[in-house]
Amino acid sequence: MSHPNPPDPDCIFCKIVAGQIPCRKVYEDDELLAFHDINPWAPVHFLLIPKEHLESLAVTHARHELLLGRMMLLAPRLALEQGCTPGRDGGFRVLVNNGREGGQEVLHLHMHVMGGPRPWKRG
Ligand code: AMP
Ligand code: ZN
Repeated sequence: MSHPNPPDPDCIFCKIVAGQIPCRKVYEDDELLAFHDINPWAPVHFLLIPKEHLESLAVTHARHELLLGRMMLLAPRLALEQGCTPGRDGGFRVLVNNGREGGQEVLHLHMHVMGGPRPWKRG
């Protein structure tokens, strides 16, 4: 990818990407990292993030088209691998919070992927 953003030294998810903070890894490739949420709402709850520091969907551009598409395609695959129930009676939730009023607490773009039998702790 051309002109990626540099890591943000104050960003907790950049620190996870750099290996400075541990995570329970679900998936990793050159561009993307997935790890279990530290405070899960559901039996399956992991976060899928770009390794590049991008604050939210609000700051993405055309050059991120492939990256965002890869995240959308990867989410269902990882959801099943992590134990979400397949088919219409199962499923999973994909959630992206953007900005403070959008409920975003960690300002590094992340996709929540949640699933597993109900009830969930939240949502
Ligand atoms: P959001 O409100 O969309 O910004 O969600 C941030 C999520 O990051 C929350 O669900 C937190 O539980 C999760 N989180 C925060 N710190 C960590 C961490 N060190 N490892 C894994 N998940 C984390
Ligand atoms: Zn970051």
